Amino acid sequence: MSFDLSHYNTLGLSAVANAGHIITDEKSLRKILLRSDYSSQATWILGGGSNVILGPKIDGQVLLIKTRGVSFVPGNKGNDLVLLTISAGENWHQLVRYTVAQGLYGLENLALIPGSVGAAPVQNIGAYGVEISDLLHSVRAMHIQSGEIERFDNERCGFAYRDSVFKRVGSPWIILDVTLGLSTTPHFEVSYPDVAEELKKRGTTQVSGAKLLQSVISVRRRKMPDVRDIGNAGSFFKNPLLDNSKMQDTLTQIPDMPVYPHGQKFKVSAARLIDVCGMKGTKVGGFEVWQRQPLVLVNRGEGTFEQLMELSEKIQNAVMDRFGIALEREPGLLGSR
Ligand SMILES: Cc1cc2nc3c(=O)[nH]c(=O)nc-3n(C[C@H](O)[C@H](O)[C@H](O)COP(=O)(O)OP(=O)(O)OC[C@H]3O[C@@H](n4cnc5c(N)ncnc54)[C@H](O)[C@@H]3O)c2cc1C
Repeated sequence: MSFDLSHYNTLGLSAVANAGHIITDEKSLRKILLRSDYSSQATWILGGGSNVILGPKIDGQVLLIKTRGVSFVPGNKGNDLVLLTISAGENWHQLVRYTVAQGLYGLENLALIPGSVGAAPVQNIGAYGVEISDLLHSVRAMHIQSGEIERFDNERCGFAYRDSVFKRVGSPWIILDVTLGLSTTPHFEVSYPDVAEELKKRGTTQVSGAKLLQSVISVRRRKMPDVRDIGNAGSFFKNPLLDNSKMQDTLTQIPDMPVYPHGQKFKVSAARLIDVCGMKGTKVGGFEVWQRQPLVLVNRGEGTFEQLMELSEKIQNAVMDRFGIALEREPGLLGSR
């Protein structure tokens, strides 16, 4: 028995697992997890497949999370807070659209990020100055071995830049649903230059949820390739977080490098580092560093796992040699612990 995953990952990699199951409810998920013949083999979780690198042969079973449902948590939360619980298999961008249409504020900057709601906390998705951790109330998750369900409040999720406890190697948790705390009072994050410029270009004097949403969508359509047209996993590397002295050192080499304070550190642009290394358009087999945004590696056709890894290493080596900065891959490898 085998399960073809080639159409379940946005990089367009060919991959086959020993078995695959489409999960539409918690009961059947638990049943599969506890079934004796399966409990002995490795179990991998897949949402929309937009942030994973699949090896050609995945040893074990893959669970594709397709649960559906959105509900308001009843009761008065005080102030202007509304709690919304969303099943893991819902589409993230559709959720963002839904909340804006409902007059709920908070998610606008996270529009058009591909993938599922259940995967959003895994790498603490973020864009244009907002991360899901800013809005996340709690997560319900099932333990992969016992089938027990536990609730994780925001703190227990261990959020950091593109990271959480769920992204750590060997995490045994399958996220079932996500509860977000959204606001009925408008407050917008419009400080990122791309978004601010787009709002200005549209002549926006009074920002609204719908206007911000449309601006973010326009910026993203310009900047990122559409996974329906060309295989990719969005940003292939995290933006490096540097301490003050390394950031200053990098600025002497690239004086116009965009720098964003991030806690005690400074986030610098991985795209800029790759660009300065002259890597735009570099190809290995079917994979290529995208000309318009060098943080994105695109599959021009029959790109393979090995070619992608080779290109990724080439970029990491170039940036290390020139700047002494280690680029960390953003998408995880599915199929190896
Ligand atoms: C064009 C493009 C643009 C992107 N832009 C952004 C961006 O701006 N910001 C950003 O942060 N990311 C971005 N991404 C990355 C990606 O969209 C997000 O990380 C998204 O949350 C992944 O969702 P998914 O359902 O596709 O996850 P998958 O790729 O299916 O899975 C990602 C990881 O989460 C795990 N996982 C998935 N579902 C669950 C679950 N229910 N429980 C436990 N673990 C689970 C998987 O095992 C895997 O380790 C972009 C990707 C693309 C292709």
